[in-house]
Amino acid sequence: MDVLRMDLADTGSPEGLVSLILKHEPNLPLPVPIEELALQLEIEEIAELRTEGFEGGLITDTNRSRGVILVKKGVSEARRRFTIGHELGHFLIANHVPDKSGQFLCSKADLRTLYAKEGDRRARMEVEANRFSSLILMPPPRLRDAFKKRPLPSLEQVFELARHFGVSKEAMARAYATYHPEALAFIVVKDGKVVRVYHDRKRFPFVAARRDGAVPQGSLFYRRGLQIGIPSEVDNQLPDIWIDIPRATPAPNISEQVCLQQNGFALIMLWHEKADEDEEENEDLTTRDRWRAQQERFRRE
Ligand SMILES: [Zn+2]
Repeated sequence: MDVLRMDLADTGSPEGLVSLILKHEPNLPLPVPIEELALQLEIEEIAELRTEGFEGGLITDTNRSRGVILVKKGVSEARRRFTIGHELGHFLIANHVPDKSGQFLCSKADLRTLYAKEGDRRARMEVEANRFSSLILMPPPRLRDAFKKRPLPSLEQVFELARHFGVSKEAMARAYATYHPEALAFIVVKDGKVVRVYHDRKRFPFVAARRDGAVPQGSLFYRRGLQIGIPSEVDNQLPDIWIDIPRATPAPNISEQVCLQQNGFALIMLWHEKADEDEEENEDLTTRDRWRAQQERFRRE
């Protein structure tokens, strides 16, 4: 690797840092070698975190003249990689300041913080560190290459890309919702309840399902015969199961795909298409037909 920490000195945002790193390292392999990259950027060591209740940490000083990344022991490789990316973000983003003890300590909740309230400085640092980690582990240009090869979205592809990029399925679902050209939402379900929702806020309408409430009746989630680890087909869905439709507007098309996972988890993908999109472009074919044709093509390849 050639990139040096001083190459990044004038940049303060996660987006700016990642694009500079990618410029210096155009041939970064996948999964991105995040430990090697951290050491290349002057992290001294990646060591075990022994503080209970936290996932990751960074030992440093106010000038960040040195940095040691700490990661909780025994976590999956995907989580370990995300945590290292996150702590490297704290190290590189110029205005991130550790607390008095010269440490960042980051909890599981910190590693999932995606939005910060105005004026909440600590939360904003967590949001930026997460954005840095996502961007460096799943560089958007590489995601777009994958979407070009298979334009219609699917949970199969989310899982395949998660393996390919060395991230968790949930981290990939988040990036997929942001960068996929289609308007998508992902619902993380645990024991039949909606626990987290990821969608691009500009492109996908607000998901009306109550957080911590049951998966809405009528969802494919309740379809019989679903098997753990095997995604259902994409199927058209009644849109008002998931979103509020303003009166006097044509109802959009919503398609749904579900995959049950281990330990009571499930992941649901929602795909939103404007009312007339489907017919105009593809006269007689429904979304489901087009999707089936694509999946069939890829199975054969
Ligand atoms: Zn943090």
